[in-house]
Amino acid sequence: MRMYDLIYTKKLGGALSPEQIAFWVKGAADGSVPDEQSASLLMAICWRGMTTEETLALTLAMRDSGKRMDLSAVPGIKVDKHSTGGVGDKTTLILGPIVAACGVPCPMFSGRGLGHTGGTVDKFAAIPGLKVELTDAEFIRSLKETRFANSAPTGDIAPADKKLYALRDITATVESIPLITASIMSKKLAGGADALVLDVKCGPSAFMKTPEDARTLAQSMVDVGTAHGMQIRALITRMDAPLGWAIGNALEVMESVEILRGEHGDSELAQMSFRLAAEMLIMGGAAQTLPEAETKVQSAIQDGSALETLRRFTALNGGDAKALDDFSRLPQAGQKVDILADQPGYVTAIDGRALGLLAMDLGAGRKDRNDVLDLGVGIRVHTRVGQRIEKGDVVFTAHTKGGYQLKKDAYLATLELKAGRPGQEPWLLDSIGC
Ligand code: URA
Repeated sequence: MRMYDLIYTKKLGGALSPEQIAFWVKGAADGSVPDEQSASLLMAICWRGMTTEETLALTLAMRDSGKRMDLSAVPGIKVDKHSTGGVGDKTTLILGPIVAACGVPCPMFSGRGLGHTGGTVDKFAAIPGLKVELTDAEFIRSLKETRFANSAPTGDIAPADKKLYALRDITATVESIPLITASIMSKKLAGGADALVLDVKCGPSAFMKTPEDARTLAQSMVDVGTAHGMQIRALITRMDAPLGWAIGNALEVMESVEILRGEHGDSELAQMSFRLAAEMLIMGGAAQTLPEAETKVQSAIQDGSALETLRRFTALNGGDAKALDDFSRLPQAGQKVDILADQPGYVTAIDGRALGLLAMDLGAGRKDRNDVLDLGVGIRVHTRVGQRIEKGDVVFTAHTKGGYQLKKDAYLATLELKAGRPGQEPWLLDSIGC
C-alpha cells in the first residue's frame, strides 16, 4: 500500500477502505508515514469529507492505536460527558460530582487547555495538591470509592489522535466533521465508559458556527458511538457568551463550588450542567424520566451530597479539600482591576473567544504547549446577554499578576451593545440520540 494512492483517491473525492485507513493511522502513529503525507491527506479529507463507513473505520483505527481502559471492576453503567468546548465551560466540575452523588459512576478523561479555551485538567489543577494525572489503578480506585474520576489521558489512550491532532492544529485542518468525530470518539471509546452525553456547542466562537453544522457533527458522533454499542445522546447548545461568571482556573473552581452549594441556580451554566447531569442519570439507569432525573439532581445539590462527593474525590486524590470551603486556600491573583462600561445599552453578545484570549494573555491559558499557567489569574464577567448596562457599571474584573498593564479597551470591545432589548434565545437548541 502506498500513501500516495490514498491521498490521490481522496483528492478526487473517492472513499478509502478500512484497510487503507488502518494503514495510514498506524503509520502516522509509528512514524512510518511522513508528516507531509498525513497533512496532505488531512487537507483532502477536509475538502472531500468522509462517508459514515470511513469515519467509523478512522475512529476504530485511532481507538486501537493505544490501550482501552477496562472499567469492568466498577459496578454499574459508567457514563461520561464530552463538550466540544467553550470559554468558561466548567460543567465537568459541577456535573461529575452530582452524577456520582446520585449513584452513577462517572469516569472522565479531560484535556489541558490550549489557545483561548481552558482545559478541565487545568481547572482541577487549581485545587492545591490534587493529582490530575492518575494511573489506571488510581483512576479505578477513585471511581470505585467516590464514583467520580477525572484525569488527563495517559499517552497510551489513542496515541494516533495525539499525533494527528498536533498536525491538524498547524495545518488548519481541525474543523472537519469526520476528523473531529474520529478524534473525540476514539478517545471516548478507549476511555471505557458505557454511555456518553455530548454537549455540541454552536455559535460564532464554537467549532460549529451554525445549528445545521452542529447537528451534523452531533449526528456523526451519535452514529459512530451507536455503531460501537455505546449509549449516546447529544444536546446542541447555543454559545454566544462565556459560560458563567468565571474565566480562569481557580475562579472557575470557585464558581463550580458555588453552584454545588446551590448558588446561581438560574444561571445558564447551572441550568446546562443540571440538564446534562439529568441526561446522564437516565443513561446510567438512576432515573426513568427527565423530571425524575432533574429532581434527583436538585436533591444532590440541596442535601450537600454533590459537594461532599467533590470533597471526597479531592481528598482521595491528594488535594486540599478544605480549599473548597475556604477559597483563600486556592491560588490568588496579585491584583484585581475593575473595568467600567463606557456606554449604556443592552448586551446582545459577549465575545467568549476574545475574552478567552485576554485570559490567556493574563497567564490563565497556554499560548504554547509548554507554557506554565498562573492558576490564580482570570476574568470575572459581571454582565450577561440580555442585561441592560449603564455607563460606569463594572462589567469585568480582571484578576492579574501585580503590575500587569491591562488593555481595558480590548475588554470593552468584547461586549456587543444595542439600544433595544434583545429577544431571549433558549440555550438548548436540539437533542439527538437515544
Ligand atoms: N476536541 C478533540 O478532542 N478533537 C477535535 O478534533 C476537536 C475537539
